[in-house]
Amino acid sequence: MNGSLYVVATPLGNLKDLAPRAVDVLREVALIAAEDTRHSATLCQHWDIRTPLISLHDHNERSRLDGLVARLQGGESIALVSDAGTPLISDPGYLFVRAVREAGLSVFAVPGPNAAIAALSVAGIPCDRFAFEGFPPAPGGARRAFFTALADEARTLVFYESPHRLAASLADLSAIFGPAREAALVRELSKRFEEGVLATLGALAERVNAHPPKGECVLVVRGAPEVADAAVDEGERVLGPLLEELPLRQAVDLATRITGAPRKALYARALALKGS
Ligand code: SAM
Repeated sequence: MNGSLYVVATPLGNLKDLAPRAVDVLREVALIAAEDTRHSATLCQHWDIRTPLISLHDHNERSRLDGLVARLQGGESIALVSDAGTPLISDPGYLFVRAVREAGLSVFAVPGPNAAIAALSVAGIPCDRFAFEGFPPAPGGARRAFFTALADEARTLVFYESPHRLAASLADLSAIFGPAREAALVRELSKRFEEGVLATLGALAERVNAHPPKGECVLVVRGAPEVADAAVDEGERVLGPLLEELPLRQAVDLATRITGAPRKALYARALALKGS
């Protein structure tokens, strides 16, 4: 019998946030592959988990794969954990999970804490649709290009950010998305000094400049307002005859140039028109 890999979410800050099933799995597997064994040892000690730990982080993941997959094939089950939250989500583990799947072995999720989802749940910003964008690039130019590409995104955006880059990111976001865009800064989830502030990007940028925050943060930014329907309606009116004469892309390009309506919205309308 082959063993299985269990991807186990661990607490973001409060040791009591480890799910009962996660405790069982961590006790029962032969080995726990951990991003930082010393960090995970604290969790294991708290929950009286005596399973051996082995490190699996960005710098050794590739070289460990064969050995770990061989152990699964030999019948041992393994749990994968990161320092906090759900492994693979801005954390190591992707190569391992991929290798296990490619070997035809089972991977099971033991779900639990995740900072992005926890932040969305308390931000007070619509979260029926959202895009998780992880950490923005650190160099200023790359970061601004990254935000510029997201400026028209209508879904709520979620970013992870380190406290020492937060002021720079908020200043860029305020300049690129506009200072009036609503956002929430959520810090230290499930810890003693947990805090959430719902404001505008401009106000958050000023606040963080004046009082640089400590601790781990998630930034939730409201999506771009949907463009005025009138502009898109006008675009659709123009699209009708253009679609009769031109291929779809060309018709959309022209309608965009004539009416100034956003290309993405016109493209969607063109597809609908073609469909009908
Ligand atoms: N895998 C983790 C998860 O499921 O959320 C994320 C790991 S990523 C390396 C670490 C980032 O997650 C931090 O820089 C911060 O943006 C966010 N984070 C982790 N713990 C947090 C907490 N207690 N409060 C707020 N943000 C947190």
